[in-house]
Amino acid sequence: MTASTFDQIGKVLREHQQFVVLSHVRPDGDALGSQLALGLSLQQLGKDVRIWNEEGMLEKYSFLPRAELLRKPPPTAEHVDVAIALDTAIQNRLGTALTAIGSANIWINIDHHLSNPGYGDLVIIDSSAPATGEILFNLIKSQGLPFDHEIAENLYAAISTDTGSFQYSQTTARTLEIAAELVRNGHLDVGKISQQLYENYPPRRLELLRELLRTMRFIERGRIATFSLSLKTAAELNVIPEDNEGLIDHLRAVRGVIVAVFFEQLSDGKVRVSMRSKDERVDVCAICQKFSGGGHTLAAGARVGGTLAEVEQKVLEETGEAVKRACIS
Ligand code: 5GP
Ligand code: MN
Repeated sequence: MTASTFDQIGKVLREHQQFVVLSHVRPDGDALGSQLALGLSLQQLGKDVRIWNEEGMLEKYSFLPRAELLRKPPPTAEHVDVAIALDTAIQNRLGTALTAIGSANIWINIDHHLSNPGYGDLVIIDSSAPATGEILFNLIKSQGLPFDHEIAENLYAAISTDTGSFQYSQTTARTLEIAAELVRNGHLDVGKISQQLYENYPPRRLELLRELLRTMRFIERGRIATFSLSLKTAAELNVIPEDNEGLIDHLRAVRGVIVAVFFEQLSDGKVRVSMRSKDERVDVCAICQKFSGGGHTLAAGARVGGTLAEVEQKVLEETGEAVKRACIS
């Protein structure tokens, strides 16, 4: 893989006409905000742009400016000129947005996941960036691409959500400067965006948290905290997948906890594993890669075949070993 420059990517964006902007399954704020921001910038450049995600727009992010542009991919495969994958560590995490592309002349891969192998023709992977939105801000600014308050709000939402509201360790002075620039030049109302992002959940999300806390366990002398969601509980509470985004943070927030692990039973016979670490010495990406997953050092995930109990057992065993290896007492 050869890393591309912003200039090389900017040239392709200017010289081609037809684009599809994609991101990963189970999208988060960085995925959706990044897709809309780049899609809007290209649209203002006069390009034909489609913005696809397997799940379409999530209810909770539907306040994002021009959210209606984000669609589910078409059922039959299409040829596209330029396909752009954002925030997607491995290509097959594009899900049905990948299968909807029969062929593409050029693939661009822009991401901040350490585990991204660099698929595509033009690749920018900056694992020091806390959010794909931050890389896109730098791309848009360096190439003089269109920028307005709608793009600014989408980028702000992308960066705010992936930094845990500017809390995580990858948040740098540069991140805060970018946020300031977005607020200033995009005329953003931070209080309003934050309320839409963090204080607008449906009550069932808290009902879900109550059930998760009933399953909560602390192991390895309180250094690992875990809870899990069975299909049965999910059905009883009528929850939808997006409801659990961020609930793992309650485990991470506990004193003494180094690794938080959330298990979610899926209907395809697999279990979605979500992990967070508070200590660089415990690399949860490495743990998840043992189960064919990936992500970042401090936030990673995997989908593992087996029953909830089986997956819990083997993943927690690996996690326990990793914590012990890191000699954290
Ligand atoms: P989350 O726990 O929020 O679902 O994901 C945390 C991080 O790990 C995200 O950056 C996400 O892209 C990555 N991740 C989550 N699940 C998987 C997976 O199944 N495979 C890979 N490669 N990465 C994942
Ligand atoms: Mn991201």
